[in-house]
Amino acid sequence: MEGRLEFDRWFGRARTLVLQPTTLCNLDCVYCYLPHRRLNNEMTPEVAQAVADSAAELTDPGTPVDIVWHGGEPLALGRRKFTALLAPFEDLRQAGRIHHSVQTNATLIDDKWCDLLTRYQVHVGVSIDGPAALNARRVDLRGRPAFDRIVRGIRRLHDYGIRFSLIAVVGAEGIDQPVALLDFLAELGPHTIGFNVEEMEGVNDQRCGIAQDQAERFWKGVMDWRRTHSGGPALRELERLADYLRLARSGQRGEWCRYGLDPIPTVSTDGDVVLMSPELAGIRDDAYGDFLAGNVRSQSIAGMLDQAHRLRYVAEFMTGLSRCQMECEFFDFCRGAQACNRYFENGSFATTETDYCRLTRQALVTALYTSPQKEIVA
Ligand code: SF4
Ligand code: SF4
Repeated sequence: MEGRLEFDRWFGRARTLVLQPTTLCNLDCVYCYLPHRRLNNEMTPEVAQAVADSAAELTDPGTPVDIVWHGGEPLALGRRKFTALLAPFEDLRQAGRIHHSVQTNATLIDDKWCDLLTRYQVHVGVSIDGPAALNARRVDLRGRPAFDRIVRGIRRLHDYGIRFSLIAVVGAEGIDQPVALLDFLAELGPHTIGFNVEEMEGVNDQRCGIAQDQAERFWKGVMDWRRTHSGGPALRELERLADYLRLARSGQRGEWCRYGLDPIPTVSTDGDVVLMSPELAGIRDDAYGDFLAGNVRSQSIAGMLDQAHRLRYVAEFMTGLSRCQMECEFFDFCRGAQACNRYFENGSFATTETDYCRLTRQALVTALYTSPQKEIVA
């Protein structure tokens, strides 16, 4: 009972379900964390139906759930099979109880995909790391740069009037070039730009080698760019920090953590579900096993969440969060960052600091407070 209460103290309802329509990807990015991206395992409509049944229990019209299609490369499934996976969700979508998102490398986007994405009102997120030189680690299976194909897909989305966001992985080359990165990405016409400072996770077991002061300079550069480009796309990390500061300064700090952390159930092609971090899907470990909370074909996701506190990694993560709350001056803003980074970097979910939180959460805050302008423009 105590574990269940602790779980409810940290976690709110599932606001995001991540689904893996296929393990396959047509690219082979150097830093990719996915262990099975060369395998062609595909989700069946029966598994999608079981997820839709679970989603129906988790949502209502006022609180829609985001169904995030995330591969592999989701579009590698092909339009016909992808449409068959969307079908079980149609009643929920038309009732405003779910909406779809897809995270894609954009290389397969053509007019027919644009029609499909428009028809189902799919929010599109595209992964691109910047201009060609900074995008060099995004390559196809033959090691050829994917840059031209990615940009062509993005321009197709733009021409179709499909709203999209861009996510860039920032590595050791990009961390010193925030202005060049932003100038390039903004020119592509996204609604939002997000930055993921390169992480050590999954089968990517290399640390990125970026120092915290480099990351701080990067975020200062992002903030300076924002000040001179006020009409440009939203910048995800600055928006998050600005939202926090607005609430904290107006005495509404409670609103910041009102909904609790999202347990982010992630459903693999065969219906297996992991919690807390999509990056744990397909990972095996002697200590933690396969991280599975259950399988949607035999159990609802609500039922899995009800028992989640019994999973060793979830219980350890809650210990890590409690330690963050007691020990870290950034906790009020950060709320504990990601479970998987603790595991992949430190070997345990009960730990606190990681490169991820130092470079993406702590350096973001210190960039603001050590810059001459203490106000953020989001
Ligand atoms: S496009 Fe995404 S899934 Fe595919 S190899 Fe690159 S990082 Fe991995
Ligand atoms: S910045 Fe790191 S140590 Fe601090 S609360 Fe966030 S995850 Fe925990």
